[in-house]
Amino acid sequence: MNHTTTIKKQPSLKYELVKQILGKYIFKVTLFNNDVSVTITNIGCSIMEIITPDRDGIKKNIVTGFKSIDEYLDNKDYFGCVIGRYANRIAKGEFTLNGQLYQLPINSGDNHLHGGIEGFNKKIWSIENFIQTDNEAGVQLKYTSADGEEGYPGNLQVQTTYILNDKNQLQIQYEAVTDKTTPVNLTNHTYFNLSAFEQETIKDHLLQVNAKSYIEKTTSNVPTGKILQVNNTSLDFTSLKRIGDRINDFPLDHGYDHNFVLEKNQEKEMSFAGILKERVSGRVVKVYTTEPGMQVYTGNFFDGTVKGTQESYYQKHAAIALETQAFPDSSNHPDFPNTFLLPGQEYNSKTMYEFSVE
Ligand code: BGC
Repeated sequence: MNHTTTIKKQPSLKYELVKQILGKYIFKVTLFNNDVSVTITNIGCSIMEIITPDRDGIKKNIVTGFKSIDEYLDNKDYFGCVIGRYANRIAKGEFTLNGQLYQLPINSGDNHLHGGIEGFNKKIWSIENFIQTDNEAGVQLKYTSADGEEGYPGNLQVQTTYILNDKNQLQIQYEAVTDKTTPVNLTNHTYFNLSAFEQETIKDHLLQVNAKSYIEKTTSNVPTGKILQVNNTSLDFTSLKRIGDRINDFPLDHGYDHNFVLEKNQEKEMSFAGILKERVSGRVVKVYTTEPGMQVYTGNFFDGTVKGTQESYYQKHAAIALETQAFPDSSNHPDFPNTFLLPGQEYNSKTMYEFSVE
């Protein structure tokens, strides 16, 4: 007789009203099943914590985060937040639409980065809905970005939905509509350290990226317009590679900070983007997305001054962000996949992180 019982990982959720800031309610929402739990706050629509088991079943938080929720209001390294209206850089903060030049704030060298000075990561989102079915638990958050906010045209209504299912998959879905044509590129900026920061850096992690090419960039960190092959370069992650082996090959970036062109059979299909593994804990994260690109950024400017959830100070290369997104500066590169959203159209983007152990 077979005595094995399967414990159903039925996902569920709980939420807590933490406080009020400027008359707005600040929430913490936790989606959980028997293995994984994901905590989200509506400040910046941020993932504060992802707790997953190692191969011995010991559960720990594997993402960067702050102890106090107030710190999410001034989150200079963009821990866990949603980035918008345009993730990554727009060269010189300029783009032209229907003959009109738009100037966005410059907040990184010569360029506009991550939606500007007060991007979506600094906004207090509202909670629209909770989702609870037999095999999913989720939360839907909304933010309306006014016409002219951070220089962008059009009132943009944005919705982000986080769903945890019974397969230990965290799905992130973004939707947006506008009343004027505007560039849109949304991502989530979660940084992982699968040892739960027991290792101070991610150099011993293994990474594979489903990309044969990457976006070449200038010394001021914006695309040259060329797409180059990764083979015979330090960006070749077509098979699993130890991240630390060649992380020092980029003196200007101080580590990896590159946009990979994901292999796809069809535009917008949900497909494999990459896999991150840590051999001591056995933890694995697989990434899938509908987006054409993935920015790999290894916390190159963490300087040991920020104390995180894990009670330790995050050092350079303490964690890695796998940011699924459109190519940087697409608004100035008509040959890159289009990022302009028109009135009447719907922006739709999906990413999934799948947690497991080996
Ligand atoms: C970018 C980096 C930037 C960092 C800021 C990343 O998404 O690729 O260039 O320095 O965000 O945290």
